[in-house]
Formats: sequence, structure tokens, C-alpha cells
Amino acid sequence: MPVTIVATALKSAASIFGGLFLADFISGLIHWFEDRYGNPKWPVLGHTIRANQEHHFKPRAFLAGSFLTRNKEVFVLGALFLAGFWATGTLNLFTGSAVLFGIFANEFHRAAHRSPKENGKLITALQKTGFAQSFQHHAAHHRMGKDTHYCVITNYTNPVLERVRFFPALERMVKAVTGRTPRLDESVNERYRKAA
Ligand SMILES: [Zn+2]
Ligand SMILES: [Zn+2]
Repeated sequence: MPVTIVATALKSAASIFGGLFLADFISGLIHWFEDRYGNPKWPVLGHTIRANQEHHFKPRAFLAGSFLTRNKEVFVLGALFLAGFWATGTLNLFTGSAVLFGIFANEFHRAAHRSPKENGKLITALQKTGFAQSFQHHAAHHRMGKDTHYCVITNYTNPVLERVRFFPALERMVKAVTGRTPRLDESVNERYRKAA
């Protein structure tokens, strides 16, 4: 019997962590798409893309907004996903965990811009484990071309994606299929812009 309990616990932990990493990966995909191809003039998505651009210029400005302002769109998206999983009989620990962590992606991102004092002991301790993204890790996205480290939830997904050069490969694929090249972020400084 104890063996069964251990096996169930391991399976549950794998589903929860699997959901966490899937949510992290998807946060990176969305962020990458907005940063590299997004146009602030687009309907519906435009204001999120403008907010991302502003965030690159003034990284701490979004800390001032309310919880609802930061998260309302993602919560709606999360509820739609939950309903979809439920309706198709695919709502389980893995998909539920992915949605749960995914809807808090903005909060993970926000914590990565705050000081340990602002975050408090619990979040700071979580950031030290890397399961909540740390300030040092997220700072890599705000350096240079703003074209790496797109995932915002943990410290573990980005190094894998950077190592296999996942996003440059995806950009080559987009170019091959649609002919579109990614745009350089407006906040990128002139020196980097010329070298790129
Ligand atoms: Zn960005
Ligand atoms: Zn940021």
C-alpha cells in the first residue's frame, strides 16, 4: 500500500510541475509573439502590446496598477480554458495546474520586478528556489535586445530554450512561411540596434 501512495504522490507532483513548466513555456511564447511581431495599432491585442513596450522603457511602472488591471484579461482567458478542458473531459491535475499557474503569470512577472522587501519572505524564498522567477533571472530579458528570456514564471524554462536557440529557430520558420521578420524593440539602444 505505501508504494501505491508514493507512486500516486510522485505522479501528482509530476502533473503539477508539468503544468507549471507548460504555463511558463506558454507565457514565453505569448511574450515572444507580442515583443517580436506585435503592433500597438492592432485591435483587441494592441493595448497589451503597447503596455509591453512601455514596460521595456519603464520596467517598474506597472507595479503601481491594481491586481485587476494587471490580470483581468488573463483571468478571462484562464476561465475559457478551464471551461474548454471541463467540456472536453480533459480537465485534470496537469491541465488545471497549467491554467492556475498561467493566470498568475503577470503576478510572477511583477514579483520579479520587486525587491525582497516589497515581496516579503515567502515569495523571496520561492524565488530563491527558482520556481518563482527571480529578479536576476528576469533582468536578462531587459538587457540588450530584449530578445531572450521571454518566459516569466520560473528560472528553469528559459535556459533550456536559450540553449537550443528555440525562438531564433521559430523566427526563421515564421520568415520562411510568412516572409515576416521580427521587429527590434523600440527601447533597444542605438548601438545594439546598429549591430543587430
Ligand atoms: Zn518583453
Ligand atoms: Zn519585465
